[in-house]
Amino acid sequence: MADEILKVEHLNKFYGDWQALHDISFDLKKGEVVTLLGPSGSGKSTLIRTLNGLEPFKDGTISFKGQAIDPTIKNWQALRQEIGMVFQSYDLFPNLTVLDNILLAPTKVQKRPREEVKKEALELLERVHLADQVDSYPRQLSGGQKQRIAIVRALAMHPEVMLFDEVTASLDPEMVRGVLEIIKELSDRDHMTMIIVTHEMNFAAKIADKVLFLEDGRILEQTPGKQFFAHPQTERAQEFLSSMDF
Ligand code: ADP
Ligand code: MG
Repeated sequence: MADEILKVEHLNKFYGDWQALHDISFDLKKGEVVTLLGPSGSGKSTLIRTLNGLEPFKDGTISFKGQAIDPTIKNWQALRQEIGMVFQSYDLFPNLTVLDNILLAPTKVQKRPREEVKKEALELLERVHLADQVDSYPRQLSGGQKQRIAIVRALAMHPEVMLFDEVTASLDPEMVRGVLEIIKELSDRDHMTMIIVTHEMNFAAKIADKVLFLEDGRILEQTPGKQFFAHPQTERAQEFLSSMDF
């Protein structure tokens, strides 16, 4: 289908002899937001990393815009330019200013003109309310500010899809909302296609078009967001939601 950006079919992923993902199939359409929920160790990060070309996989197919990805190529660079990713630990370069952190990949990897990218970087910083930090170094920023910069840095590559892996998990509570608001706005205003791993259930309920609920490397439920949060199908998902005070 033309509007499918990612299509995963019967994906199996092993770490050595041990199988971390079992027969994962789902698709992600343009503008859609999928949230990956599930207990710790259920394979959420493994799935996200595999989609981003950071992990090789054994069998099954991952297609990006209709093209199957070669599972033997690790760190597939072309793919990673089109799929932006933000992790739990903001991995900004400590020796570079905020601006240079943002400019690095678009100028070095994508070879775009510095002035053009800089103009865009300043607009993005404005949008995340950090224009005044353009010359700061990461150590001068709070965790929430660093995470907002990490989001801007990923957006500056013009990704087709954004992957977020527990981006607020290590933040102080008062920083969480500012980061989540930016992600929500990316969906509402830009219709950004996203896969989000989060433990913030109220946020997930607001943003998810579709929920994948994982346990032990398997998809237990694949349900429209509204339906999942109102009536999870499996007992396991019901337990999970109540353990999250939802
Ligand atoms: P989640 O993000 O849902 O907490 P992960 O994807 O991090 O889960 O982990 C899923 C399972 O894979 C866990 O049992 C974890 O210990 C294992 N695992 C994750 N990364 C590796 C790795 N690099 N090598 C071996 N096992 C791993
Ligand atoms: Mg994880």
